[in-house]
Amino acid sequence: MARPLFRAPVGTRDILPPESARRRRLVRVFADLAERSGFGRLESPVFEEIGVFQRLGPANDVVTKELFEFFDKGEPPRHLALRPELTASVCRAFAEHRPTVPWKIWYSGPQFRYERPQAGRYRQFDQVGVETLGTDDPHADVEVIGLGVRFYEALGMRRVRLLVNSLGDAESRPVYDAALADYLRSRRDELSEQSRVTLERNPLRVLDSKREQDQTVIAEAPVMADFLSGASAEHFAEVRVGLDSLDAAYEISPRLVRGLDYYTRTTFEFVADALDTAQNAVGGGGRYDGLVEELGGPPTPGIGFALGVDRILLACDAEDVFGGDPAPVQVFVVDTAGGQSAVVICDRLRQAGLGVDRAFDSRSMKAQMKRADRSGAVVAVIIGTDEQSDGVVTVRDMRPGGGQRRVASAHVVAAVTDLLAKGVP
Ligand code: AMP
Repeated sequence: MARPLFRAPVGTRDILPPESARRRRLVRVFADLAERSGFGRLESPVFEEIGVFQRLGPANDVVTKELFEFFDKGEPPRHLALRPELTASVCRAFAEHRPTVPWKIWYSGPQFRYERPQAGRYRQFDQVGVETLGTDDPHADVEVIGLGVRFYEALGMRRVRLLVNSLGDAESRPVYDAALADYLRSRRDELSEQSRVTLERNPLRVLDSKREQDQTVIAEAPVMADFLSGASAEHFAEVRVGLDSLDAAYEISPRLVRGLDYYTRTTFEFVADALDTAQNAVGGGGRYDGLVEELGGPPTPGIGFALGVDRILLACDAEDVFGGDPAPVQVFVVDTAGGQSAVVICDRLRQAGLGVDRAFDSRSMKAQMKRADRSGAVVAVIIGTDEQSDGVVTVRDMRPGGGQRRVASAHVVAAVTDLLAKGVP
């Protein structure tokens, strides 16, 4: 009977080398930037009690439709969910451990949402992000947003736009929400069916609709900027002054509300113009001054962002930046003699910190040299029968015009290091 051929589940995929190495490099660039800015890494569980995510808000697709939820084998069973994002976990960890503030955290890892898969939209995808908890200083907003700006720059991206908005605070928000709801109800008949449903649950989220039919109504809706309280307006002004002083270009986007319900005051999004408009958000975030309290902690302001690694790499491809890795292998060991020499020489070179690969199965010299070429290695160390009996190896410079010489096996590390230091002949 034929065995079934399994494939990765719908909406997920295997990231194979060398693409996986490029992703790791991207995370390293992010981690370096974050750690140089005083952020420490939080590693939290991939799943949480479902209530942690339900606190993100009842009108939220991520919570109502997209959670991967399950019960464990406990008695009684616990209701758990794979994390759809990390801000809730960071706030849960804050409420649990009560660290001193400001608590500056970075993270990276997979998130899970049961969405309709398409290019740039997956059921398992990676994010990197930061959160600063325990301060509502506008300079913290500027630090967080600035970190995002510098990260895209560090990857070489030039076509990322920053959109910012303020959603107001506990004082201004209800006034705006009421005005917006009145307005949307007055034009209810013109809205799409989905938006009419959203209107009853959370009028603000109607502004998030990308449906063609809703666009005229949205374009004429009242804007938050006209409803900001004095304190909110001042906070937003200070954030803008900070961004100006960084020379970070941004656009005020009065209808930017973003997907999750918990945002207050500053919200922002990074948009990649190199991608199709449907899937062009490469990151976003904002201030969430009530979320820690929702999760049982003390009242604690917070601001952060999450950036989508998968989409950033698609945008890098479209911009032709942050390309393939330089080959991680510098040395390729070719062995036609058999015996233990290749085992020992590979080990010695690797212990000296060099990137080393080798062939197996005693293939022919020609076949092994072909592999050496393909590996991208700069140096081949060749162990033939002659060499082995003389206790030497041949060290060959594989670059155009490079020569070769025999050295005692005991000196192979020095010979290879010398050759690599020399640069192209
Ligand atoms: P959000 O947590 O929804 O604000 O998402 C932050 C970023 O994560 C977005 O700007 C996207 O770049 C990325 N993202 C969100 N959902 C997905 C998904 N299903 N597949 C790939 N990337 C995603």
